[in-house]
Amino acid sequence: MAPKTVLITGCSSGIGLALAVRLARDKQRRFQVIATMRNVGRSAALAAAAGPALGRTLEIKQLDVCDEGSIRACLDSIPGRHVDVLVSNAGVGMVGPLESQSLAAMQSLMDTNFFGLVRLVKEVLPDMKRRRGGHIVVISSIMGLQGIVFNDIYSASKFAVEGFCESLVVQALRFNVAISLVEPGPVVTEFETKLYEEAERADYSRTDPETAKIFTDLYLRNSRDVFASLGQTPEDIAEHTLRVIEAARPPFRHQTNVAYTPMAALKHADPSGALVTDAFYKLVFKYDAVLRFGLRAIRLLRWKSRKVKEGVRLLGFK
Ligand code: NAD
Repeated sequence: MAPKTVLITGCSSGIGLALAVRLARDKQRRFQVIATMRNVGRSAALAAAAGPALGRTLEIKQLDVCDEGSIRACLDSIPGRHVDVLVSNAGVGMVGPLESQSLAAMQSLMDTNFFGLVRLVKEVLPDMKRRRGGHIVVISSIMGLQGIVFNDIYSASKFAVEGFCESLVVQALRFNVAISLVEPGPVVTEFETKLYEEAERADYSRTDPETAKIFTDLYLRNSRDVFASLGQTPEDIAEHTLRVIEAARPPFRHQTNVAYTPMAALKHADPSGALVTDAFYKLVFKYDAVLRFGLRAIRLLRWKSRKVKEGVRLLGFK
């Protein structure tokens, strides 16, 4: 069977890079990867990780999801504009008290995370519909299902992504085009590093001192523990995304972290929203010490399990 052409956005780092490499180095050579990035001057890490796959099963092209012209130019450079799988991965984050964030920054985030996806879909869907086949895979977030304190704008952008896909999926199905949302919890990438760096530099003078203190003393500290304890690697997300891409009947939603399944379930268990709001309130303001203790215990267990696996490997059992 001919390899599937997979176009991925945001491949200079993180999940996009890991996925591009995973697919391009597929042992069965099932994929021809077009790894795109806004600035091809930042392709060194991808090129190094791709190794011999570069120029064979992986090519690097420029694509800025905020620029319709660059999306069109990229697609026009592909023979027959033929893309079997589009992976919309490019995204940016934003965290902090609402009062300290500018509207311009919020609009710019929406432009990347939501309208970036819309621009891509507008460009690839007509070709996929004509061919009566294709798969659009969107790296969303668990925050597209459940808002998290101080992630108001980021979460709203992912809710927009989810609503857009939920509406489009039925029409797309009529043309044999599948749509899948991959919903990771925390993933340890540049995304997280950038957010913390920005949060540390940010000016909280436009918010009241109590809110600023809750953000810096409670949220940031707990969030670091959450990433350290429950965070997945970009390679984990690439494996999950591969499973979605190769599925005979691709799922519409795929959550990558079982630790977050109860959170999504809680929301649907109580349509009034009281249950989930109350649970989060208590978690943030009443039981944060318990939360931190639980997260540290999980971190210790994960560390132990990694050591056991390493030991098993060293002893030559695997
Ligand atoms: P990352 O910062 O390493 O990767 C994001 C990539 O998007 C970068 O390479 C960046 O250059 C690119 N990008 C930003 N604006 C762009 C534009 N206009 N055009 C093209 N590319 C652009 O972070 P990541 O964690 O790998 O994020 C990838 C996706 O995963 C994002 O959509 C993010 O929302 C989502 N996600 C991340 C996490 C997490 O905790 N890291 C959790 C859930 C979902």
